Amino acid sequence: MITLALSKGRIFDDTVPMLAAAGITVDPAVVNSRKLILPTGDPGLRLIIVRASDVPTYVQYGAADLGVAGKDVLIEHGGEGLYQPIDLGIARCRLCVATSAGFDYQNAVRRGARLRVATKYVTAARRHFAEKGVHVDLIKLYGSMELAPLVGLADAIVDLVSTGSTLRANNLVEVEEIMQVSARLIVNQASLKTRSERLEPLLAAMRAASRAKETA
Ligand code: ADP
Ligand code: MG
Repeated sequence: MITLALSKGRIFDDTVPMLAAAGITVDPAVVNSRKLILPTGDPGLRLIIVRASDVPTYVQYGAADLGVAGKDVLIEHGGEGLYQPIDLGIARCRLCVATSAGFDYQNAVRRGARLRVATKYVTAARRHFAEKGVHVDLIKLYGSMELAPLVGLADAIVDLVSTGSTLRANNLVEVEEIMQVSARLIVNQASLKTRSERLEPLLAAMRAASRAKETA
């Protein structure tokens, strides 16, 4: 049995059509149940539902052979024990620095000010500001980052943005793009060696499905 780890939400919603393109169906009735282990139309493949940030951990330890995880999540995890063979091009967004509309970020950076930055993405944020030579105090948060500048917890946030509507709703502005983010297929390194006969056809099908989506 091959196990594929997915998170509910946009990763799941974008992956299921790619599986369908690869000939693997997922029964909608099963999706809407509260079950965390889901069968597929392929008796040799099952899905497990985990938190987005836990997907690399399940795959790293071999509890799942494969998973789908955002580049953001993979950077924070570190990628140990994982192959990342395919950028699926799904769940696209960008990692950005945002501040209150009234905060002059560029000027603060020019002055060499020390910035307080709240984020869930501390590894990516630390790397970004180190490369820019900006001194920051990072404050780790687990959600609702948009609130931090509004109540004086931080000067800036590092967060994922897709449409920008959440930033706008909270009177924040994007002041810098750190990177483009999309979700990748990840594979347990040992699984790829010991179960390659089962995994290679699935990888090939997913690669074909992601290329077909690109040109569509
Ligand atoms: P969770 O809230 O559990 O992290 P999400 O479904 O919000 O789960 O996010 C899963 C992944 O989707 C993220 O890790 C990221 O790669 C991607 N993503 C795409 N667009 C966004 C967005 N606007 N906000 C957050 N994540 C996004
Ligand atoms: Mg979310």
